[in-house]
Amino acid sequence: MRFDILTLFPDMCRAVVDESILGRAQAAGTIEIHTHNIRDYSLDRHRRVDDYPYSGGPGMVMQVDPVRRAVDAVRAEAGSRGHVIYLSPKGRRFTQQRARELLGCEHLILLCGHYEGIDERILELLVDEEISAGDYVLTGGELPALMVVDAVARMVPGVLSERESFENESIYTGLLEYPQYTRPPEYEGLAVPEVLLSGHHKNIEQWKRRESLRQTLCKRPDLLEQAQLTQRDREVLEELIREQREDFDNSEKKQV
Ligand code: SAM
Repeated sequence: MRFDILTLFPDMCRAVVDESILGRAQAAGTIEIHTHNIRDYSLDRHRRVDDYPYSGGPGMVMQVDPVRRAVDAVRAEAGSRGHVIYLSPKGRRFTQQRARELLGCEHLILLCGHYEGIDERILELLVDEEISAGDYVLTGGELPALMVVDAVARMVPGVLSERESFENESIYTGLLEYPQYTRPPEYEGLAVPEVLLSGHHKNIEQWKRRESLRQTLCKRPDLLEQAQLTQRDREVLEELIREQREDFDNSEKKQV
């Protein structure tokens, strides 16, 4: 799969994508991540890519022409039209579900805005989709673009090793993941749950499912509405809710 990031700060992006798992996957040829400086496509002798907004008001707006040229050049180089994403606080909020769908695109072109944003005509001419990192405003689209690349790329077959597989992870399964522990078995009086040291696979699997349900119930109960739950899961959830109530009642009693 190929990713092209169009940005005014390519070094910022390369610093992230050339490290760790994504760096290894590029070296192995499993994915390609290209970064392009939009300034290289400016015809201005000072390589300007922005100008004052017509309406007046604060800040500068990125111009259509350098972005158009950058997208055209990337498409020609890749030999593919690509799916163009503009990272924007006005976009649809990014989710694991959307990341999974984007995996179906062989080629993603990610456009990072800066300053006050981009000329609206870029959206009309070039952009297929706007994606938001969340309901807050950042200085540029680079961090959200890197989020999208990372979330999609790690699901490309061969990017993660079998040990690092993503299928059991939080959100992907519809639930949050169970808690993880590693050595030592005890630290400052906090012991690893005994069942994890038992070697009893069936009990360990049951513990993982129960703790996954517990984490979701405590931290993201909204996810339970969409999650695929078995009859046993529902019974466990009822037990967990009862436990929560008992804990609450006991702490109330202590305070009285
Ligand atoms: N004036 C714009 C507005 O009010 O919608 C915000 C511009 S913001 C300061 C500069 C750039 O950062 C945007 O063009 C966009 O590419 C990026 N950006 C900021 N917040 C973002 C978010 N939550 N998700 C995705 N991109 C974001």
